[in-house]
Amino acid sequence: MNKAFNLENIRKDFPILDQEINGSPLAYFDNAASTQKPKAVIDAIKNYYEQDHSNVHRGVHTLSVRATELYEESRTKIAKFINANTSNEVVFTRGTTESINVLASTLSGLIKQGDEILISTMEHHSNIVPWQELCIRTGAILKIIPINKLGELQLDSLEKLLGKKTKIISVTHISNTLGTINPIKKIIELAHLYNAYVVIDGAQAIAHTPIDVQDLDCDFYTFSGHKLYGPTGIGVLYGKENLLNKLPPYQFGGEMILKVTFENTSYNSLPYKFEAGTPNIAGSIGLAAAIDYLNSLPLNLCHQYEMEIHDYALDQLKSFSNIRLIGESHKKSPIISFIANDIHPHDVGTILNQKGVAVRTGHHCTMPLMEFFNISGTIRASFSFYNTKNEVKQLIGGLGIAFKMLS
Ligand SMILES: *Cc1c(COP(=O)(O)O)cnc(C)c1O
Repeated sequence: MNKAFNLENIRKDFPILDQEINGSPLAYFDNAASTQKPKAVIDAIKNYYEQDHSNVHRGVHTLSVRATELYEESRTKIAKFINANTSNEVVFTRGTTESINVLASTLSGLIKQGDEILISTMEHHSNIVPWQELCIRTGAILKIIPINKLGELQLDSLEKLLGKKTKIISVTHISNTLGTINPIKKIIELAHLYNAYVVIDGAQAIAHTPIDVQDLDCDFYTFSGHKLYGPTGIGVLYGKENLLNKLPPYQFGGEMILKVTFENTSYNSLPYKFEAGTPNIAGSIGLAAAIDYLNSLPLNLCHQYEMEIHDYALDQLKSFSNIRLIGESHKKSPIISFIANDIHPHDVGTILNQKGVAVRTGHHCTMPLMEFFNISGTIRASFSFYNTKNEVKQLIGGLGIAFKMLS
């Protein structure tokens, strides 16, 4: 049976949405920075701490067995959600940033001086800086895949950059600033012609499009729980099993070992090899609850609706003559970035907040991208399936007031 999309019911699932900010109803358009949590996630974390908490693995007592079961069930659910071949390919991390750091650190053993790493102009700082550091350590060279004025990756330039020296390509699936959806399947195909490893930053994409890592054939895929309606402090590093097996551990300590003596230590198998120390058990349970919640919704209709809200907002924004859109890719996710003549984005954001509207302003952790557009920051409205057309009207009304006050 096809599930129907019911906005009213969905909004009831998110307690935080039902409040006033500065005397106006909250209109939350900062979903690209972090999504809100459904009650199911909040309850799962609460129930875990009230009934089942203990440390995981190796425990013989009941609570430890329960916590371990819940933790590993979460891993299995996540593996299924992204269609990983086995749950061994799902490593828990703190989030996208840590997942990319794990890779930049552990892949460096395979990198020689003069090798090349490719990233793009539109990357988040967390997909730039770890690779810069890898280059400093190894003598590898960081090369940048250019974009056009619409904010689209230039595939023909990528083909020219690719060569025998290309060892790693790390690109974002969806730009958190522009909303551009990148043709990652094509990129992965091209990269594999040169036997380069492909890392995908899926921090944005995971909430807006179905992910099938086997169909994509990506080597690594990374995302954060908190952008997928789950808790902060938990994220995922997906990697093909044979590749993860090839990489050395990232951190050292408990959990990741098999046998320790003072002379010699052998390491645990996947995925534990990459999970040193007590993990974020509650976070993993919260993330699994978020996935269960999403699976209970008609997700394709949710994604469709998000784009309806995006298109509606875009249409409304066009009534302002002083606005310049930043990011006009032909393939977009529900994110709109713009600037308004000489008005500082932070000032607009501050006035919008006075009207209950939450947007993000600034460089969105993409400073090289700001440089490309020759701006210091944007106003960004990013949408979720719980947003309403009335909220968009509130945003447009707030912008009208802000522009009048500031120009
Ligand atoms: C948010 C985001 C990150 C960083 O995620 P964290 O949860 O802060 O680790 C990386 N890349 C993109 C595209 C993002 O949107």
